[in-house]
Amino acid sequence: MMVDDSVIALFRSRLSEMGWEALESGLRTDEIMKPHTSFRVGGPAQIYAEPSSTEEIAALISCARELGIPFFLMGNGSNLVISDEGIDGLVIRLGENFSAIRSEEDPENSEYTYIYASAGTLLTRLSSFAAKAGLTGLEFASGIPGSLGGAVFMNAGAYDHDMSEVLEKVIAISSSGEVETVGKEDLQLGYRSSRFMKEGGIVTEAVLRLKKGDPEQIFSQIKEYTEKRTKSQPLQYPSAGSMFKRPAGYYTGALIEQAGLKGFSVGGAQVSEKHAGFVINTGNATASDIDALVRKIQATIKEKNGVELVREVRFIGRGFDS
Ligand SMILES: Cc1cc2nc3c(=O)[nH]c(=O)nc-3n(C[C@H](O)[C@H](O)[C@H](O)COP(=O)(O)OP(=O)(O)OC[C@H]3O[C@@H](n4cnc5c(N)ncnc54)[C@H](O)[C@@H]3O)c2cc1C
Repeated sequence: MMVDDSVIALFRSRLSEMGWEALESGLRTDEIMKPHTSFRVGGPAQIYAEPSSTEEIAALISCARELGIPFFLMGNGSNLVISDEGIDGLVIRLGENFSAIRSEEDPENSEYTYIYASAGTLLTRLSSFAAKAGLTGLEFASGIPGSLGGAVFMNAGAYDHDMSEVLEKVIAISSSGEVETVGKEDLQLGYRSSRFMKEGGIVTEAVLRLKKGDPEQIFSQIKEYTEKRTKSQPLQYPSAGSMFKRPAGYYTGALIEQAGLKGFSVGGAQVSEKHAGFVINTGNATASDIDALVRKIQATIKEKNGVELVREVRFIGRGFDS
């Protein structure tokens, strides 16, 4: 439900009263989300904030809760389709403002180093930080355009590796508002899934444990992955990467291609000619175009192969229910 302007005004004054003047003055209203997503679609968020500390995130959430304002937390917007009609309530984006990285050698085993990074840190930057420090384990993440928080939430991965291999623990604000430390054994990391997907909560920081490696090998592995990606993925078009989770026993791209849907389009949304597992924005796609195309693909594959394609990309905002 739309939040009333008077409630938005109350939200602002409540933040100021609590001493968060800088945060309050940085708030934007009716912020168009299109430039904040890799798909380049999405209407306005009623209230939009880019906090720079865990305390600021906690303040935003506690004020929003107090006033019954719904909120949505995003990272780099690379796994989202945001509704053309926009998002009700507050959008909190963890980005550059919240992207500190530091490292420390494991005091118990000098072969390993811990990296502490804030949730808004881009995976590409983190992977390059690790490579430059001669640490191995994050090469797979060098081409994933998400934030660290989004990567924990999705258990992002590529080339048979994923975040579960390098995460040691995560600092998070739980759905009840407590700051908690969650060890790797409790993160429930599975194929593109995590505890946060099931139970809610906001990742604010993650601690990774990486092994010292041979810098030459690390850089050459990154180069190989980059070449593979550039060759096989339509990176020149806006998208959110693979649209669907991989169904057991099948390759999504092959299923879609065999169904004759390669190149099929609805408005400006198209099944990529280069990789049928990707839906791309050819220039003027709307979120509704993407949604309609995805439904068409799902219905066709269900009918032809009896396979349910499950969306990996999250559809958020008015009219979308995931
Ligand atoms: C060209 C391209 C290639 C891609 N390749 C890959 C790939 O190889 N492997 C892969 O796994 N993915 C890939 N992706 C998808 C995407 O980059 C990942 O899913 C990434 O982890 C999403 O991170 P994000 O910060 O962009 O999250 P967003 O898109 O901003 O959000 C995604 C979800 O994560 C939640 N979230 C974000 N931050 C937090 C946080 N701090 N705490 C709790 N929840 C949070 C959001 O609420 C939302 O539900 C690709 C995308 C593109 C565009």
